[in-house]
Amino acid sequence: MLNYRKSSTTGSTRRVLDVKLPTDFTVEELKKKIAKKLGIKEFSYTIEKQSLDAREKGNIHWNIRVGVSSPALPGPGPRYSETFSIPYKKRDKKVVVVGSGPAGFFAAYTLLTAGFDVTLLEQGPDVDTRVKDIESFESTGELVENSNYAFGEGGAGTFSDGKLTSRTKSISSERAFIFDTYIKGGAPEEIAYLAHPHLGSDNLRKIVKRLRRDFMEKGGQFLFNAKVGNIELANGKMQAVETASGKIGAHYFIFAIGHSSYETYRMLIRKGVEFRVKPFAVGCRVEHAQEMINLAQWGQPSLPGLKAAEYRLTFQKSNLLPVYSFCMCPGGKVVPATASKSANIVNGMSNYSRNSAFANAAVVAGVHINELLDKAAEPLEALDWLQQLEERFFQFSNSYAAPACRISDFLCGNVSAAFSKSSYPFALVPADFNELLPVKVIESLKEGIKNFCRKLRGFEEGVMLGLESKTSSLVQAVREKNGRCGAVENLYIAGEGSGYAGGIVSSAADGVKAALDIISKSE
Ligand SMILES: Cc1cc2nc3c(=O)[nH]c(=O)nc-3n(C[C@H](O)[C@H](O)[C@H](O)COP(=O)(O)OP(=O)(O)OC[C@H]3O[C@@H](n4cnc5c(N)ncnc54)[C@H](O)[C@@H]3O)c2cc1C
Repeated sequence: MLNYRKSSTTGSTRRVLDVKLPTDFTVEELKKKIAKKLGIKEFSYTIEKQSLDAREKGNIHWNIRVGVSSPALPGPGPRYSETFSIPYKKRDKKVVVVGSGPAGFFAAYTLLTAGFDVTLLEQGPDVDTRVKDIESFESTGELVENSNYAFGEGGAGTFSDGKLTSRTKSISSERAFIFDTYIKGGAPEEIAYLAHPHLGSDNLRKIVKRLRRDFMEKGGQFLFNAKVGNIELANGKMQAVETASGKIGAHYFIFAIGHSSYETYRMLIRKGVEFRVKPFAVGCRVEHAQEMINLAQWGQPSLPGLKAAEYRLTFQKSNLLPVYSFCMCPGGKVVPATASKSANIVNGMSNYSRNSAFANAAVVAGVHINELLDKAAEPLEALDWLQQLEERFFQFSNSYAAPACRISDFLCGNVSAAFSKSSYPFALVPADFNELLPVKVIESLKEGIKNFCRKLRGFEEGVMLGLESKTSSLVQAVREKNGRCGAVENLYIAGEGSGYAGGIVSSAADGVKAALDIISKSE
């Protein structure tokens, strides 16, 4: 089993201390503060938590919790260290994992560490090829359908913003294991204690590659360009998956396909794997000048020691859909995140430095497909509906140029005449969003965005780009508590594509949980 223990250590006495420091504090300042507060000179320390307090614009500072160890400290004090272990034993059981995003990779990595024979199948290429394909897409408009912002090594997670926040409860041990693994793969150690940890897309590409090498050196099989197009089922059990190179059989199968692989969803549903519809969200991505966001949040265009200001906005009113910002990317870029040649989908990413001149975030309305279709929709209908909406945004410009509208024009019902500069690599095309999105969504977005303009000074100066449809899956696998598929004994559907997770950390944790269930069956 995956163990996460807090155990006592011997040696010096340890104290936990909370300190406040300026945004650009140095290590020396932190040490001085500890020494002064505890009245000691000799000590070692670790940062346990660090969060920015920006409630008062004139007094923005870090709140830092440190664990200090020193033989000079009086009294016993709490002492502990954290350890993780997945005990290895040769298990003679084979597992096939489909999809190399955070869910698939962490499931495969956990199983390999526990002694399983693991094959990881990814329909796209390795990360270096993916980087080239994306660069070529953005300069020529030629999309490679298995190698883009959604598909390829590391999944949607690789070219993401790399925010590692998650609101999912009860994943603290999995989270610790995932962060530990990322740090081993080269992630900055600060992710272990920052309240809003962020890897950045540039770091993620390196980490994903290092972890893949580690996985393969330990004996894992990682196959690229290996799309699973079919599955073989018999007597309520998965027998094999089929790729263009042939069938692969195994004792257990984990599908961690993300939520963009519509073809794979359809294949699984037609084969009898049970899914149902669930609430999801749809809307647009808004982009602003980062300096404007900094001014609104910090009262000044920049602050020493900080990269770029963030925001999170929500709006709720009876008779309207809830509207909220999501996946905010400070100092980032809006990206064409489609995996289909005939769809327009936007998303956001940033590098570790978060130093671009732009800030972007999804602004979406939470909705249930049944509300939009006015009937109880089946999963296949729901997928068709979403795909058609994504295609409508492509047909509007007949290209990856994004339908767009200035927020101020959207609120007044106007179509924008022109746009200021954007980070989006293709053109922005003036659009009337009323013609593109369902009425219910538009009504709610209008009220929500009006409210955001009141909450965040200058919000109306931004531009909206569409379509933002990937905040969460609109279908959900029918699973048992442990992630196993209700109807198929040895099949697990994990990660964002399962409809139970969203984001890097919760998807990765969902993959780890599926792996742990398989491990528990062969103890
Ligand atoms: C641009 C962008 C920015 C984002 N920013 C953030 C962020 O900052 N923080 C955050 O928490 N989340 C972010 N997300 C969301 C996050 O990336 C996803 O929630 C996460 O990657 C989901 O992990 P997953 O493993 O479930 O699926 P995915 O990462 O989607 O991986 C699924 C993989 O399965 C493969 N696959 C699918 N079907 C098949 C098949 N039939 N055969 C073989 N392989 C298949 C796909 O090619 C893909 O590589 C972002 C997403 C995007 C697109």
